[in-house]
Amino acid sequence: MTTRHLQGVTLECVQGDIARQPDMDAIVNAANAELRIGGGVAGAIHRGAGPELERECQPLAPIQPGQAVITGAHNLPNRSVVHCLGPVYGVDEPAEPLLASCYRNALELAEQNELGSIAFPAISTGAFGYPLEAATQVAFKTVLEMLPQLSSVKHIRFVLFQKADARVHEEVLERLLD
Ligand code: ADP
Repeated sequence: MTTRHLQGVTLECVQGDIARQPDMDAIVNAANAELRIGGGVAGAIHRGAGPELERECQPLAPIQPGQAVITGAHNLPNRSVVHCLGPVYGVDEPAEPLLASCYRNALELAEQNELGSIAFPAISTGAFGYPLEAATQVAFKTVLEMLPQLSSVKHIRFVLFQKADARVHEEVLERLLD
């Protein structure tokens, strides 16, 4: 686990389950375009939230790569879920700005909804096939660029399912900051 304090914001990487982050106001879903339960992150979040989440999502779907929408968290212990559709690697191009848009739009929604904390998974790096290290660089660069614009968001957490992925995040963040 790594924690950094940058421009009044706590930025951390932890190994864990995105659906088990009870101290975060918002958690981010690596959603599918239809905003339905799926595998990976979307499966964990929808299972934790219960079927009312899919019902709330239906009028908001479909969403486009790079887009983010916000809903309640239902049975999850958070206030909100931000659903982002990451690019499918090799299909949705250009991948880098589309992935960056996910992080930027999610943070903007958190600000608009006056949320203090938000937890991200590694969007697009599972079923969507984005190479982890490249995706991690896009994620952190985008978050670091957004820091001066944040006023309500004071705590950003990256939650990685696997230990090796958490280590890649720590290394990329260190390289970007040093
Ligand atoms: P995408 O379709 O955007 O690639 P996935 O859910 O398939 O999204 O995977 C995104 C990343 O999240 C992968 O690195 C995967 O290992 C990880 N992951 C899967 N389940 C969880 C979970 N419950 N909490 C945090 N990360 C998860």
